[in-house]
Amino acid sequence: MTRLTPLLERNEQFARTYTPIALGLPTAQVLVVTCLDHRVDPAIVLGLQLGDAPVIRNAGGRVTQAVIDDIAYLAFLAERLFAGQDPADTLFEVAIVHHTQCGTGFLADPGFRQQAAEATGLSAAALEASAVADPHTTVETDVERLLTSPLLSPKVSVSGHVYDVTTGRVTATLDARYPPGPSPRPPRTSGPGRPL
Ligand SMILES: [Zn+2]
Repeated sequence: MTRLTPLLERNEQFARTYTPIALGLPTAQVLVVTCLDHRVDPAIVLGLQLGDAPVIRNAGGRVTQAVIDDIAYLAFLAERLFAGQDPADTLFEVAIVHHTQCGTGFLADPGFRQQAAEATGLSAAALEASAVADPHTTVETDVERLLTSPLLSPKVSVSGHVYDVTTGRVTATLDARYPPGPSPRPPRTSGPGRPL
């Protein structure tokens, strides 16, 4: 027995009607970056189905170097495997979703942050950098951080969103933009039925 046992039973139900999905571009043409908080599961909040969108989650949904590295690799992989399949020659949009009542918000308090640093061995500066006290502010910071990264493909756009855990509503706060460069591309519109 493990605590996963009841979840494995759910998986058994899932596998009975499962249809495999071939490796391809994500159907929604979106990659979601969001918090690991168990109240913020994008599959449920955004109604994602298998094959719709890759999701990167960490504390706060912050755009760390590790997140930038993953996005750079995914863009390379998508371009290498599926180049030319999209008539607009774009790859995907990165949707950064921060949320209200984030547990990282406590780290904005210097005393709490110092205690966390001493207890975990993490640096106080790193903990401060991960704090989401105001999701509107941090999502703007992270959209800019990703857009200005030299590792971001010019075929990848970035948008910002805030999820309100009290209403269940995701609000788009920053429209999708491509990184600044010599040949900016117009933002693409997503298909019907997939609002973010
Ligand atoms: Zn959170």
